Amino acid sequence: MASLALPPLPSDADLRRLVHFSAGDGRIWLAGQRMLLVHAAAFGALRRELMLTLGRDATRRLLLRAGYAAGERDAALARQVRGGAALFEMFAVGPQLHMLEGAVQVTPQHFEADPSTGHYLGVYRWDHSWEVETHLRDFGPQSEPVCWMLLGYASGYTSAFFGQPILYKETACTACGAPHCLIEGRPLANWPDADAMARDYAADSMLVKLEDLAQQVQTLRETLEPADEAGRLIGRSRAFLDAVQLLRKAAATQVTVLLTGETGVGKERFARALHAMSARAQGPFVAVNCAALPGELIESELFGAEKGAYTGAATARPGRFERADGGTLMLDELGELPLPAQAKLLRVLQTGEVERLGATSARKVDVRVVAATNVDLDAAVAAGRFRRDLIYRLNVYPIRIPPLRERADDIEPLAHHLLQRFVALHGKRTAGFSDRALDAMRQYPWPGNVRELENLIERGVILANPGVPIDVEQLFPTLHATPPLTVSVQGVLEKRLCSDAAALYDEVLRRGLGLEALEDVMIEEAVTRAGGNLAGAARALGLTRPQLSYRLGRLRERARR
Ligand SMILES: [Zn+2]
Repeated sequence: MASLALPPLPSDADLRRLVHFSAGDGRIWLAGQRMLLVHAAAFGALRRELMLTLGRDATRRLLLRAGYAAGERDAALARQVRGGAALFEMFAVGPQLHMLEGAVQVTPQHFEADPSTGHYLGVYRWDHSWEVETHLRDFGPQSEPVCWMLLGYASGYTSAFFGQPILYKETACTACGAPHCLIEGRPLANWPDADAMARDYAADSMLVKLEDLAQQVQTLRETLEPADEAGRLIGRSRAFLDAVQLLRKAAATQVTVLLTGETGVGKERFARALHAMSARAQGPFVAVNCAALPGELIESELFGAEKGAYTGAATARPGRFERADGGTLMLDELGELPLPAQAKLLRVLQTGEVERLGATSARKVDVRVVAATNVDLDAAVAAGRFRRDLIYRLNVYPIRIPPLRERADDIEPLAHHLLQRFVALHGKRTAGFSDRALDAMRQYPWPGNVRELENLIERGVILANPGVPIDVEQLFPTLHATPPLTVSVQGVLEKRLCSDAAALYDEVLRRGLGLEALEDVMIEEAVTRAGGNLAGAARALGLTRPQLSYRLGRLRERARR
């Protein structure tokens, strides 16, 4: 057990080396984490405004949690940087980073820790707290401590470092006239008011509830709005905006539009936007996927059939052309349309009249056709699979929708938009994306385009832990799925995922287990095999006994829910 006679803090040269100014691309790194060099005055202004709009208590809890998140991140570095060092020296990474980051001067006064029993008692003196400075300036002398973000940092760091909840209290604060700030940290269960303290760190505060509600309203609004709102085309890249500009011009006319582009680029979304921007917006929008319908059915689907026109046609039914009368008809995957249907389509386009199967006369229809294809129609003509005269009819106004890899600037806004949608859909709360995840998304070539992005983000949302940012591992589960990432991301991935890990991961997914469920299964199995002996089970899992008890507690709580 490390105890009273504290050695001096080790040199922080190893920590200073982790700071990397990558000014050319506007980023600063602390090891793999993106950092900001922010004016204390800016943070002070933010803090002041929070106090004035949300009040003291909400601000305190908000800053506690913000600090907690920072401390948690820094704890990950401790083992990485000083893995071989003595416990106190390794732990000192936190206080030393806190100083290096400019938050406060930390002087350890007392440090008792025994990871094998979960015992911890830490007392630290703080001088030059930035929070005291700004708080005194804005609000004058205080009767309660004000080093909230700092306190959150200490709690987040220590909890993450020891893998169990350890929270701090500020027992003296210079904002209240004390000569120094003083904080004391203990395992959560050892505080008499543990419940109240834990609530400060729980994310279900009024603010989060408000944020949830706002998000639900947003989702409802999007659901209620016609899905084909032009404003829903999301992107700001040059290639994308050029395509949107072409679409806008076509919308004002009746011209037949041919949308081309790889699978998954969002051709239907473009077609819906065209419809919404056109004078036909109040009319129907009907989409047909020519590849999804069997060849025998496609003609009756498109052009309709009279009663008895074919076996099974018990009643007369209108085709999609008739249903789209006054609106827009999208023919997706047009290259898959069989040749006989192509001939009929050509006739409809030439005459503006549809003849149902088995009918003796034609009906007039007023339909704008939007065709879409991901195959080279000229090649299909050369291969004899597509009519040249039909291409001439359709290819009056081609719009190429760029693949996602040509729209790097759009990835982030798209990702955030999709995140919102899936978070609402699955009722999960995430803290956005990690910087690494955003970086990886920008580097990835996206062969499946927006649809692939959509799938990855939905999976990421499902795999994410509540309140934690979605990271690379949740978006790109196996290495095979992540071709050329940046060197830094690749390096981290390689460390974490060997081929065995990929197989394990696939197996876990195949069984429909989540990360939590996997942990539960491992813990239950270990306890069973150890015949209920928790110390033995903990050893088998490489945990301390208190760590195992803590996880078992969580597991039982989850099981109760
Ligand atoms: Zn203080």
